[in-house]
Amino acid sequence: MWGKYKSLDAHWKIMFSLLLAVIAGYIAGKDAAVFGVSFNQMFAFIGTLFLQALKMLIVPLVFSSIIVGVAGIGNGPDIGRLGGRTLLFYLLSSLLAIIVGLLVVNYVEPGILDGEAAKDKIGLQVETSSFSEKVEGRGAGDIVDVFLRMIPTNIVSAAANGQMLGLIFFSLLFGYFMSGISHDHALTQKHFWNGIFETMMKITDLVMRFAPLGVFGLVAKVVSDIDPAGNPEKFFNLIETLGLFALSVFSALLIHSLITLPLILKYVAGISNPFRHHRAMSPALLTAFSTASSSATLPVTMDCVEKNAGVSNKTSSFVLPLGATINMDGTALYECVAAIFIAQAYGLDLSFAQQFTIVLVALLTSIGVAGIPSASLVAITIILAAIGLPMEAVGLIIAVDRVLDMCRTSVNVFSDSCAAVVIAKFQGEKNILTK
Ligand code: ASP
Repeated sequence: MWGKYKSLDAHWKIMFSLLLAVIAGYIAGKDAAVFGVSFNQMFAFIGTLFLQALKMLIVPLVFSSIIVGVAGIGNGPDIGRLGGRTLLFYLLSSLLAIIVGLLVVNYVEPGILDGEAAKDKIGLQVETSSFSEKVEGRGAGDIVDVFLRMIPTNIVSAAANGQMLGLIFFSLLFGYFMSGISHDHALTQKHFWNGIFETMMKITDLVMRFAPLGVFGLVAKVVSDIDPAGNPEKFFNLIETLGLFALSVFSALLIHSLITLPLILKYVAGISNPFRHHRAMSPALLTAFSTASSSATLPVTMDCVEKNAGVSNKTSSFVLPLGATINMDGTALYECVAAIFIAQAYGLDLSFAQQFTIVLVALLTSIGVAGIPSASLVAITIILAAIGLPMEAVGLIIAVDRVLDMCRTSVNVFSDSCAAVVIAKFQGEKNILTK
């Protein structure tokens, strides 16, 4: 039995853990304990260990991979072309995702129940006080902040505080100018950074061996927090009132990842069977699902894109770290659906101009949203303020945010990986997704 399990592909092992986690979380609920330690705490412990191990990799991996990637391209016109193509892909794919979300939410109208704005029905369960503290003082200034964060005053503190944009910007400069110095010095540095990068990939492999265990802990914790068996009434209320909203988000995410992005892979990148890419990326998608963080998933994303999809390190190390930070299709889509859902629930008839504002602000804020769990809640408050709704209204969706976060993060990561494939094809790379 153990031998059979060991020979399974990584994604099957993780799927198996997911299933086991749902069962364990359901049975354990919130309070079951042994020797005074609750299962919920044990799940949290296992999950946190795994998450921390992934996070530990981020700074050295982002540094070394971007430097190696950019230095490999050199400082000729290639780098501009690569950067331009990547940014264009990111903007267009996020815009498409938002449009899908906009169409679905206008069609399903999850905020309208029995022909009326659902405010009161959902409002009963809203608990906004703790959240309002968190978002107090936030506003459109956050978008300006994104650009300010790009240039860190202190690169060490940017690294220590996980300010990815600053880190990326500095690494890009470093890699770019490293190629321009005297040959001897450039070569020494290339060897040095390549060595660090390869070592980081090896450590990633090690951490990934524990992915089934980590995923088990993370997902079992989420399920036991909800405690569906111990609290069926709350659970069913939640499903009834927020189910339609969750369903709208979920189906829009599915449309984007099973139709829009595969069409791009097929017709823009010329991949004959785009669904091969879903298979190639499955360990990363499942990790994104259980961690709800595209930054934490980055090491796994790079591993899958290079080893399973066959994209060169040169391309992936440029496209993916940038994508994990600024390209969030799932998040952009979610922001749009959530804002319109809240507006519907409040009985606000959105004009075309207001819907356009939502699209634009969703696009911009999705660039600035960090790749960490629940990051888009703050972005949604910015949109609400822009269309004249109280920011506290975001409380309506908090109950289902975690589960939807898991789904949208997978789409965020998938879109980054599609960008890597498309750009690699444009750069003339061969052997992509041939396996
Ligand atoms: N959790 C998402 C991510 O890491 C961001 C968000 O939408 O909250 O990609």
